[in-house]
This record gives sequence, C-alpha cells and structure tokens, in this order.
Amino acid sequence: MVLLLLQIKAELENVTNLEAKGGSDGSEFTFFFKIKCGGCSSVTEKYSSVTASELYDIPKSRGSANLVQKCKFCDKVGTIAIVEGRSKPYTTEDSEARKFTPIGCFDCRGIEPVDFSLREGWTAEATSGAKFVDIDLSEGEWSEYDEKASVSVGILNVEHKFVVTR
Ligand SMILES: [Zn+2]
Repeated sequence: MVLLLLQIKAELENVTNLEAKGGSDGSEFTFFFKIKCGGCSSVTEKYSSVTASELYDIPKSRGSANLVQKCKFCDKVGTIAIVEGRSKPYTTEDSEARKFTPIGCFDCRGIEPVDFSLREGWTAEATSGAKFVDIDLSEGEWSEYDEKASVSVGILNVEHKFVVTR
C-alpha cells in the first residue's frame, strides 16, 4: 500500500483559498487520473474518475474503494481510496511562497495515479470576500473580474505532483 498526496502549486491573483470542492449544484469534486499499473508499469491512456461518494466493491475482499481498476495488459486489479482530512485550501501565502500544498490523499494498492487532469469543480475566495464557484481549470488557468473590489482575479500556472506520505 502506498499513501500518495496530490499537491498543487499555483499563482493566485487577488484570490485565496483555492479548493477542489465540487460544483455549486452540490456535485462532489471528481479527480481524473491516468493510472499506472504496479504489475507491468503500463499507464492508461484514458483518465479514470475518483469521487469520494462513489464506492466500488473490491473483488475477493469485503472492502470497497473509490476506484477499482483491472489492468488491460496483465489483468492485475488495483484500487484507489480517498483518505479524508488531508487536504488544505491553497492560499495567497502558499502562492507567494511558491509552495505545494495537498488537495487530496489517496490509499493506493496495486495501481497509482501518475497524471492529474484539473478540469472543473474548483472554488476560491476573492480577497474582497467575494466567492467564486464552478471554476474551470481545464486550460490550466482562470480569470474573472471581482466587481466588489474592482480588480481582476485569476489563477495561473497550476502545477501538480504526487508525493509519497505516511
Ligand atoms: Zn498491468
């Protein structure tokens, strides 16, 4: 078993507390990962989705996980389960310090995520207090205008990495 933290770094312009929170319609945040097989090291071409509320039974086990995936090359079955309580909002201070902070933690058995697609479901707060929801980071950046403070707001140069933790 490997515990992996998904960490992000970004340049925040007049916003703080960037979070992978889900949509304003109440939908949960979904992580999209390319998956590497621990058996044969092949990496999937398509992204697999991992959502906290979506649980799948693990074959030959009484447990469940948020992703149960069989390698199409070597048939090895692996699982990924979200570990709650390990993520932090990404703040202006983190941005200024060019720091990576965790937005998710995953218990990985037999498979590992190797690439993360940012997509939708991000929220952030303007320094004026305005809240932005349903932020789409598919393009790796986002910008808006904060009418309350009459400043432009933005999220730029988002980077991510996976870090082994315990
Ligand atoms: Zn494999």
